[in-house]
Amino acid sequence: MARVHNWQIGREMSYWYPQARPKRQFAAIFDTNKCIACQTCTLACKTTWTSGKGQEYMLWNNVESKPFGFYPLGWDLELLQRIDGQNWSKGRYEGRTIFEAAPAGERVLGWRPEEADYAYPNVGEDDCAHGVEKGAHFQGFHEAWFFYLARICNHCTYPACLSSCPRSSIYKRPEDGIVLIDQGRCRGYQECIKACPYKKTFANPMTGTSEKCIGCFPKIEQGLQPQCFVNCIGKIRMAGWISTPDKSRPDNPIDYLVHERKVALPLYPQLGLEPNVYYIPPRHVPLPYLRQMFGPQVEDAIATYRQAPKDPDLAGLLSLFGSTEWIVPRWRRQGNMVMGLREDGREIVRVPLREPSWIVPAVDLKRGAVRTNIP
Ligand code: SF4
Ligand code: SF4
Ligand code: SF4
Repeated sequence: MARVHNWQIGREMSYWYPQARPKRQFAAIFDTNKCIACQTCTLACKTTWTSGKGQEYMLWNNVESKPFGFYPLGWDLELLQRIDGQNWSKGRYEGRTIFEAAPAGERVLGWRPEEADYAYPNVGEDDCAHGVEKGAHFQGFHEAWFFYLARICNHCTYPACLSSCPRSSIYKRPEDGIVLIDQGRCRGYQECIKACPYKKTFANPMTGTSEKCIGCFPKIEQGLQPQCFVNCIGKIRMAGWISTPDKSRPDNPIDYLVHERKVALPLYPQLGLEPNVYYIPPRHVPLPYLRQMFGPQVEDAIATYRQAPKDPDLAGLLSLFGSTEWIVPRWRRQGNMVMGLREDGREIVRVPLREPSWIVPAVDLKRGAVRTNIP
C-alpha cells in the first residue's frame, strides 16, 4: 500500500496505488435545498446512456429520499455498520478508511448487494423521519423531515472501484480525472461493485461486464456540462474543476464554494475516497444525521448558506447554477450582475443577482387604465 494525502480527512492514508492527481479534476456541486425529486436528471441519463438490454435496472444517476430512500437498498447503512464510528479531531479523521479497514487479503472493505436490491429505486420516497401523529398541524417548527439526495459517480480521487479491480480495467483519466471502465478488459468479476461504497458501478448481465457513469465525457471534452446537469429542473447542479485546497482560486466557482466558503461538502468523507461531488447540505435536517453524512463542517456550512441572502457574492454565485449549458471555470460579480467566464475571461453568461420587478397598479389614473383580468 502507498501513502497518499487526502485533504478531506486532513491526513495521509493508505491506498493501493501511489498518488497521481490528474492534470485537472472534474467536480460538481449539488444544492440539496433546491432538489424537487422530479427525476428529470435520472431520465436524462437513462435515455442517453443506459437504455440498452441488460441496463434495465441501472441508474447511473438516481435521486433518493433520505433517510429511508436507498438505491440499491441499504447502500450506505450496510457499510456504515461495518466501519468504525466517526471520530474526528480538529478536522482530522481518526478512524479507519475503507482501505485501511480492508480484511486480510482484500484491498477494500466492501459488500455486494443482491440483484433484488436494485429493484426499488423509489423505496422510501417522501417518507418522513418521524411519524406524523393524528391531529398534527404546522406550528412553525416540526421534527418531520426528509430531503432529496441526487447521486452520480463521484469520480473519486482515490476510487475504490479502481483499486479493487484485479484486471486493471478501471482507470482515471489524467486529463480530467473522470473514472472509466475499459469494456474490453473487464471480465465481470464485480469486485468494483463490492468495493464502491457509493454503489455506482453496475453489472450488465447481457455484456458480462461492469458499467458506470462516464461523467458524460464526450460533452466535457467540448466544454459542456453533463446531461443530468443541463436537464436539472431545480437548477441544483454546477459542474467544474476543483483544485486542491493549497491551490484554491476564489474566481473558480467550485473552489469558491468548497474551499473558500466551505459551504459544499463531500458525501461520507470518512470512507477515504476523496469524492468529487460536493453537496450543499439541507438546512432543515437535524445536525447529528447530517454530520455522519457530510462530516463535522456541516454546521458551519449551513450557517454560511443561511446568510446567503445578505451575502451578494455567495448568493450571486448560487444564482449561476443552471444558467448555462457550458462549464463555467471562472466567475465574477459586478454590482447586481454575476458573470460566468471562460478561462481567458470571455463572458459565457450573465445573471442578475436580483431580478427587476415592477408593481403595476390595478387602477392607473395617469393613463386612465383599469387593469384587471376579471371581465
Ligand atoms: S463513486 Fe464508486 S464508481 Fe465512482 S469513482 Fe468512486 S469508487 Fe468508483
Ligand atoms: S454525468 Fe452523464 S453519465 Fe454520469 S450520471 Fe450524469 S448523465 Fe449519466
Ligand atoms: S433534475 Fe434536478 S431537481 Fe429534478 S430530481 Fe434531478 S437533481 Fe433534483
